[in-house]
Amino acid sequence: MAGKSRVAGKMSVMDINEIRRKFPILDRKVEGRNLVYLDNTATSQTPHSVVSDISSLYEHTKANVHRGVHTLSQEATDLQERTREHVRRYINASSIEEVVFTRGTTEAINLVASSFGDRLRDGDEIVLTVMEHHANIVPWQLLQRHKDIRLRVVDIDSEGTLDLRQYRSLFNEHTRLVAFCHVSNVLGTVNPVREMTAFAKERGVPVLIDGAQASPHMKIDVRDLDCDFYAFSSHKMYGPTGVGVLYGRRELLESMPPYQGGGEMIKHVSFSGTTFADLPFKFEAGTPDFIDIAAFSKALDFIEETGIDNIAAHEERLLAYATERLERIPGLRIFGKAPHKSAVISFLVGDIHPYDLGMLLDKLGVAVRTGHHCAMPLMERFGIPGTVRASFAVYNTFEEVDAFVAALERVVSMF
Ligand code: PLP
Repeated sequence: MAGKSRVAGKMSVMDINEIRRKFPILDRKVEGRNLVYLDNTATSQTPHSVVSDISSLYEHTKANVHRGVHTLSQEATDLQERTREHVRRYINASSIEEVVFTRGTTEAINLVASSFGDRLRDGDEIVLTVMEHHANIVPWQLLQRHKDIRLRVVDIDSEGTLDLRQYRSLFNEHTRLVAFCHVSNVLGTVNPVREMTAFAKERGVPVLIDGAQASPHMKIDVRDLDCDFYAFSSHKMYGPTGVGVLYGRRELLESMPPYQGGGEMIKHVSFSGTTFADLPFKFEAGTPDFIDIAAFSKALDFIEETGIDNIAAHEERLLAYATERLERIPGLRIFGKAPHKSAVISFLVGDIHPYDLGMLLDKLGVAVRTGHHCAMPLMERFGIPGTVRASFAVYNTFEEVDAFVAALERVVSMF
């Protein structure tokens, strides 16, 4: 079933088996069975090209970046900066000054909350949505400990589509920022971020997009989106852990104070005053995760060689196939049925607790995520404690969907 004919994308034909061979972990057994890895929203697996690059860097090029005149340090610096340029190209940012390396999406959003948040005053308002990951809720709440700012929250309909009328109605003279996800990590909803951004920008309100769940699945063009900030994580893009990116519009980043203090982010330090480094280094205090940053470029190579349109087309087919098969299971409810949806399926079956389903599926070799998925307000919105979530990546196959559905049917029959 997973032959070439089943995975013919819009652009070209991909050989999924060839792609799978690039990911050694997919050969693993769990509980004596072939692993079926459907937890890609939490983190995706990493191809050998990235893993071998990391070992090679440790074995041949490890030296701290931006500090030494010696050869190894210069090589390590070049490799890190090569990734910065690669990321710039990948997201179509205007310059490398706009690409700040962080530990992940979470740190990128915290950076904006802390640094951009510095200019907010009592009475200011930030617009969020009810489908945000905690990473795009809690940093703003931390800001509320120091400032009397108000969070305005856009609701969704029963299918998981944002209420755009409400979104527009929440803007007023106090609105200072809007921050929303490009793709929901629970519902899979792909938000109309271009349209939402245009509406905010017409009113002079800066826009932060949490791109953690969009960047692995679709082309990101920050200039086309016209957003002010865009945050994403390498580990969800077939890349190493510990690396994220904050894209920031240059004028805004220039006007923002540093996020953390330390080495690398200064021009001159004395006890009578310190001047800060230019962008992007002003926001990169301390030794960065330079080896993983360097290797992130190989993950981008993988995505580019495979073709993001091919990846999206394959995942779309998997989503349609899995949805259709799951909907045949009596009592199964899917949360998130927006017309424009990414390859994530959150569901419950009858009143079976999601943890029970997840644990029993694991015994059959199927890795899914269970719980609130760091989106408690969304769970509250649906009046549920959590869901089971199956999410797909380019290396998943139709046979794996079959194995997952068969395992789920078996588990459900035990209750
Ligand atoms: N935002 C969304 C939509 C996410 O799905 C996640 C992680 O699942 C994050 C933010 C946080 O990403 P990280 O843990 O890589 O910082």
